[in-house]
Amino acid sequence: MEKKKTIIALLTSGFLLFAMVVVNLIVTVTDHNKTVWATNTTKSPYENIDIKTRQAKEKQYHLAFQYPVFKNASLNKNFEQYVKGKETDFLKEIKKIDEKKLMKEPASLSLTFELIPAGGDVYSILINEKTYVTAEKSRSSAEIFVIDIEDGAFAKPSALFIDPDKASSALHTPVDLKSSTLFIQKNMVVFLNKHEKREGSLPIKKVAPFLKKEWRDRFSFEESEEKTAAGEKVKKIALTFDDGPNPESTEAILATLKKHQAKATFFMLGNRVERYPELVDKIVQEGHEVGNHSWSHNDFTKLESADVKSEIDRTAAAVEAAAGVSPLAVRPPYGATNENVNEVIGVKPVLWTIDTMDWKSHDPKAICAIVKKEAKDGSIILMHDIHQTTAEALDELVSSLQKQGYEFVTVSDI
Ligand SMILES: [Zn+2]
Repeated sequence: MEKKKTIIALLTSGFLLFAMVVVNLIVTVTDHNKTVWATNTTKSPYENIDIKTRQAKEKQYHLAFQYPVFKNASLNKNFEQYVKGKETDFLKEIKKIDEKKLMKEPASLSLTFELIPAGGDVYSILINEKTYVTAEKSRSSAEIFVIDIEDGAFAKPSALFIDPDKASSALHTPVDLKSSTLFIQKNMVVFLNKHEKREGSLPIKKVAPFLKKEWRDRFSFEESEEKTAAGEKVKKIALTFDDGPNPESTEAILATLKKHQAKATFFMLGNRVERYPELVDKIVQEGHEVGNHSWSHNDFTKLESADVKSEIDRTAAAVEAAAGVSPLAVRPPYGATNENVNEVIGVKPVLWTIDTMDWKSHDPKAICAIVKKEAKDGSIILMHDIHQTTAEALDELVSSLQKQGYEFVTVSDI
């Protein structure tokens, strides 16, 4: 009915400009009038989701659509539009085929779907499309969307990422995240190849910093304790570098970390991120974590809440722009915090358990001595990547602890 009303409105408007559109619409409507639908709605295994089946058997074509119906109206509208678009394209395509040929061998379009619970209200939905126009023009394809059945959010998987290209290379995903071939199941992101075959997976916790905030907030990140093959717990240490990035010393630190295949966390200052975005990107691409250390290194306990928020938000935006990742871990300058600050930050601040005093001693030997003396499983070591002497201490520091069986991880992995 809605379509017919539109057509009448357009016809009476008398604008020549609309002539083409009107002709197009009439064709569609005529086709629809010809199509006789059998519709049926059944329950799905999931709460608040029904399955709608619509079938039409015409002399020249068959249509079979099966798609979910949700409680959320805007989500349903999205799906109706999606299905409608597929139908319109199909009918347009068969218009080009000889009618007699179609009478002998009807064309067909079928749409079926699979729902994959991602946790909470979020589902991945895989839509399989099978098209048969002629023997040469038969094909099947699949498309995936991620949806929130409560608030109606609907997105292609690539649209979940701040920057799908940067995320693909930093996470070494087996598929290009831009091509949307992934789904989320429980706490895992599963990657599919062109033939919809499983190519690998990653815990969503690893992927989380690369997700846009509105999507990241929809998932839960369960901790899993890593065990070695022998079943014993891995001894872990988190190296953290504050106040950078700084071209020379940060580069030197990155080279040492790479040499030892060690991961670390860089708590950056927003104003330096803005100055050295390529260096931030490099840090992320090499598998390290970026944390938020404020924009200008002011004591948060002496600032107004609004200013604390601005220091955090500006820095986060700069890191996202530079590297396609959110700095989820926050370390307030000087480790200075209180209840009010924590509330504004919204996460538990990451402090440290070992202070190397590198900013004071500027002595690689002294830095190493402190770490060697105090290191234990779960230590978080405070250093600063703005000092060349810290960079010089790192090789010996990492080698000696690796010899003792320590693994160097990011603060989110400790
Ligand atoms: Zn600092």
